[in-house]
Amino acid sequence: MTATISRFEGTLAPCGKQHGGEQCVTEDQEGLVTEEIAFSCGCVTSREEFHDGSHHRMTVDHRGRVLVDEEQRGE
Ligand SMILES: [Zn+2]
Repeated sequence: MTATISRFEGTLAPCGKQHGGEQCVTEDQEGLVTEEIAFSCGCVTSREEFHDGSHHRMTVDHRGRVLVDEEQRGE
């Protein structure tokens, strides 16, 4: 499993304000890719991509409200 962490600043967070934060991308041997973006205000966006092409996206704002929870099946 490999993990890549990168920091960013001044990006539009799901709550509509500009915040810095950290992006973490992990990848396992079976091709599952998980990307998580954590903003300094507490908003979190995550994305999982499975080896068959399926996706799962989720966005939770810093108040704990789920804004996006979306699944997409691969072909
Ligand atoms: Zn926020």
